[in-house]
Amino acid sequence: MFNDVIQLLFPNLCLNCNKGLVKTERYLCLHCQLNLPETQYHLLKENGVEKALWGRVPFERAFAFLYFNQAGITQRLLHELKYRGNEELAFFLGSLYGQRLKKISDTMLLHGVIAIPLHPSKLRKRGYNQSLAFANGLAETLSIPNFSINIERIKATETQTKKNRWQRWENVNAIFNVNHPETLCNKHLLLVDDVITTGATIESCAKELLKKTSCKLSIASIAYAA
Ligand SMILES: [Zn+2]
Repeated sequence: MFNDVIQLLFPNLCLNCNKGLVKTERYLCLHCQLNLPETQYHLLKENGVEKALWGRVPFERAFAFLYFNQAGITQRLLHELKYRGNEELAFFLGSLYGQRLKKISDTMLLHGVIAIPLHPSKLRKRGYNQSLAFANGLAETLSIPNFSINIERIKATETQTKKNRWQRWENVNAIFNVNHPETLCNKHLLLVDDVITTGATIESCAKELLKKTSCKLSIASIAYAA
């Protein structure tokens, strides 16, 4: 709350430590940017995200940019994305992660990104889709197209937090629809979400994509809550 007021009054302060930013810094001071809790999972096979998704849906690779820790930088950034509608920050984080993924994107032969969509009613309420803005930053930095227009959410889902694993699965079953699936055939796509917790949403969306097209999928998120 105090942070929110400070940020409104002084937008050129670091989102994490409130220190004044110099011209070359955006959103975070250099110190905080260097101290982001990066997972480096893209460099690590059999990482936490991959293990969480094993046996549930076929994928090539899966990774997340940041660890989600309750009181840390990641939570402050996600709060800014979710409650203050900071679309540019989501794009900026996508660009940062894109720079990291450049190291492996050539060997992965990615053909494009595709973001998990929000239901139109939620999009109206939220103002923008943070996964899509993050995916836009990734796509631009990696110089690959964004195919997010090809997937839509046709069912609004209730909040996941008070449901058990089965109820969560039921809650996210058959909620996506693929448009013009032929466009995605034989492509290796990076499916992008904001936060991976149980992975139920990713699983449901990936299954729908794999059912409708002959694409291959890798998975990326802004944060991973183990
Ligand atoms: Zn800082």
